[in-house]
Amino acid sequence: MQNTCTTVWNNSLQTIKANIPNQSYRTWFEPISALKLEGNVLTVQVPSLFFYEWLEEHYVGLLRKTVKQQLGEEGRLEYNIIVDKSSNSGSPYTTKMPSNGNAAASNPQSPAVPSAAAGKDIRNPFVIPGAKRMNVDPQLNSNYTLENYVEGDCNRLARSAGFAVAAKPGATSFNPLMIYGAVGLGKTHLAQAIGNEIKRTHPEKLVIFVSCEKFCQQFVESLKNNTINDFVNFYQAMDVIIMDDVHNFAGKEKTQDIFFHIFNHLHQSGKQIIITSDKAPKDLSGLEERLLSRFKWGLSADLQIPDLETRIAILKKKMYADGIDLPSEVVEYVAHNIDNNIRELEGAMVSLLAQSTLNKKDIDLPLAKSMLKNFIKNTSKEVSMDFIQKLVCEYFEVPVNLVNSPTRKREVVQARQISMYLSKSMTKSSLKSIGAYHGGRDHSTVIYACQTVNDLMGTDKKFKGYVNDIQKKLQMN
Ligand code: ADP
Ligand code: MG
Repeated sequence: MQNTCTTVWNNSLQTIKANIPNQSYRTWFEPISALKLEGNVLTVQVPSLFFYEWLEEHYVGLLRKTVKQQLGEEGRLEYNIIVDKSSNSGSPYTTKMPSNGNAAASNPQSPAVPSAAAGKDIRNPFVIPGAKRMNVDPQLNSNYTLENYVEGDCNRLARSAGFAVAAKPGATSFNPLMIYGAVGLGKTHLAQAIGNEIKRTHPEKLVIFVSCEKFCQQFVESLKNNTINDFVNFYQAMDVIIMDDVHNFAGKEKTQDIFFHIFNHLHQSGKQIIITSDKAPKDLSGLEERLLSRFKWGLSADLQIPDLETRIAILKKKMYADGIDLPSEVVEYVAHNIDNNIRELEGAMVSLLAQSTLNKKDIDLPLAKSMLKNFIKNTSKEVSMDFIQKLVCEYFEVPVNLVNSPTRKREVVQARQISMYLSKSMTKSSLKSIGAYHGGRDHSTVIYACQTVNDLMGTDKKFKGYVNDIQKKLQMN
């Protein structure tokens, strides 16, 4: 009997091997062993529930076809899954699952109900023994705390949600907590601070901070080394996972898939998930819908550009922490002129200090002004109307000369109006000169264009996306 079951499985493996990439075969099929064949039911053993889910999700069609090839139309596949019971004596037990693909036709039994526990003698090479007792380095930077995260209108919701989550990780409705906002506005700081606070108040909790990029690298690495189960087990054992910059998942389908499974596992077990992103879930592109919909389950809180008072308070706090003393007027000057990115704000202060040390001069306002001239010019560089027009036309694939001509064709009018709107918002040009630049139109046409674009941005999401997109491109250049 044993022989037949091994032969059937080995034959099946040959078909499978011929149909999928070698790497996938090694990862998902080599660790499987055939256990028994009873009638037309072949039972195989897989190393974990995760493995089972993955196989059923990604390979059910192939498995069904292969098993039927080997055992005829009535052929069925069942899995024995080794379940990690590391909290007990350590010896894993197995549980049985039918394959969805085969069960669907002849066996309506739900795959979600494990039906047996046996097989104590089977060793699971993937189980991390006593995962809960692991000593995990949470990868947190102790400089980021909630205390030194200055509160302002720009971050009130996110910050207070952070406090709530830190007090009761996994037990609030803020799960996942998604913090989003543009670069340099404090996402990483806040996410790290929540992690530090949890570690301070709940030292027994396993917390891990990981950037999305690092997670993707680890995943690829684990595929290469055939340690995918260790990788998944590690993250599934956490009480709190903090993933930074999830927009970097864009286009990485397999890693998203893995994260989806880990997310589900943690969420179902009441574990806390905290993620950061540069966009709101609805605006994230390149991410699978099912993952995005998970991100919307809890609370999405945005970080806005801080107002002047908050920027000053942030600078003062940093200075205090570093034992630096700058005249108020210098702090105000810096905070006033660098207004869209806190990282740049801090960078300006640091370069000011460095320069003053080098030149052995006290920092006063005239010195700050002359030193920061280049810095400020770089950060708020004005774009030219010429460039705006060129980029808008490129974006909509409309010739520039048409935009400046009398034509009323719909797509040309749209490009012209957006170009006028951006010229108004991104340059210091007068309405009159903007009109003149766009084919000799008068200032009331420019006002009308700005109003139209404004209105449309409020009502038409797609249109707003275009304008934001172009604006971003302009700022990057
Ligand atoms: P992001 O991850 O959004 O790009 P960071 O979290 O790296 O931004 O923040 C950039 C810098 O600004 C960090 O040094 C951070 O400490 C500081 N920062 C941002 N927001 C605040 C705040 N509310 N209070 C104090 N420092 C802040
Ligand atoms: Mg960051």
